[in-house]
Amino acid sequence: MISFNKPYLTGKEAHYMYQAVYSGKISGNGIFTKKCQAFFEDHYGFKKCVLTTSGTDALEMAAILCDVKPGDEVIVPSYTFVSSALAFVRQGARIVFADSCENNPNIDADKIEALITERTKVIVPVHYAGVACDMDKIMEIANRHNIFVVEDAAQAIDSYYKGKPLGGIGHLGCFSFHETKNVTAGGEGGLLCVNDERFIRRAEIIWEKGTNRAEFFRGMVNKYGWVDTGSSFLPSEINSAFLWAQLESLDEIQARRKARWEQYHEGLKDLAEKGYFALPDIPNYATNNAHMFYLVCRNLDERTKFIAYLRENGVAAVFHYLSLHLSEYYKEHHVGAIPELPNCDKFANCLVRLPMFYELNSEEVDSIVSSIRKCFNENHFD
Ligand SMILES: *Cc1c(COP(=O)(O)O)cnc(C)c1O
Repeated sequence: MISFNKPYLTGKEAHYMYQAVYSGKISGNGIFTKKCQAFFEDHYGFKKCVLTTSGTDALEMAAILCDVKPGDEVIVPSYTFVSSALAFVRQGARIVFADSCENNPNIDADKIEALITERTKVIVPVHYAGVACDMDKIMEIANRHNIFVVEDAAQAIDSYYKGKPLGGIGHLGCFSFHETKNVTAGGEGGLLCVNDERFIRRAEIIWEKGTNRAEFFRGMVNKYGWVDTGSSFLPSEINSAFLWAQLESLDEIQARRKARWEQYHEGLKDLAEKGYFALPDIPNYATNNAHMFYLVCRNLDERTKFIAYLRENGVAAVFHYLSLHLSEYYKEHHVGAIPELPNCDKFANCLVRLPMFYELNSEEVDSIVSSIRKCFNENHFD
């Protein structure tokens, strides 16, 4: 069986983790945490970065920083991971779910304006599969209405919108280093990018359990205490050490994933032209970071049979999100009618992800492509 995902090890993780353990400081904000944060600040020009224990935690920090309060509204695409909405719900927000574009799962920027009310506080564009949302449009709307933008860039490491790195465009940006992402901090991890200077001081305080400890360690204050809300959002040095090994190999990881992605694309594009399914849509303002390779089937029935066919042929392909606006949890929280989001429903019913991970080799992609060709050319859908 070719698995759907397999976390990649560069070989240096255990070495750096050993170093962290024997350095005598294994709690957060040590040498490896600082190295990882500096990597993002230097490499992408992000103003201020703090590592977190997960992407979800980075989103929770963003929700606190935006001062989201009960009754505030937050616009989130429905086709996304739970955390994109949950982080704001925990602050008491009401989620206003938005539809996807017709051709890709990202939030449809042209439909956002109609969802804005005087209670709207935040828009959360999610860069699905690491492919950018239309950020110029979204930032223009947000600035005109005085609304914050929190980018859910969980899948979007090393990807760009018109040359600008994702995660660095909104007021705040959130990354994930879960084991299913392009790089991992040893299973769980995340990063908050603070792009708006007004948030920098408070971000460090919220990160350190509501204390001004980070300033104390820099010698800026002579004692530290409880000054705000917050939590223990910073990861242990052991996780940061793991992540550091992966960041050192980022270019190599990305190059290899992109080569596999292109191979899928080359091998399947004539079937897409015949109309059997749609390939990922990369708008010309966006880059592809090869986080994911997916197909969009014509309907739910074909997708179900397609996934089963691949499974019988030794390939683990999987569908993705269920629409959050129809979830069991959110059903009772809608204000007014449950919205109709047809593009979101289409991706929930028809999108299928193919195996994509560093160690996937070229022969395996060839064999997956030939199984897919067989499935559609011989019509295994009865
Ligand atoms: C992975 C992911 C998250 C959550 O990240 P964790 O590190 O698992 O908490 C949030 N949003 C999106 C779009 C994701 O893909």
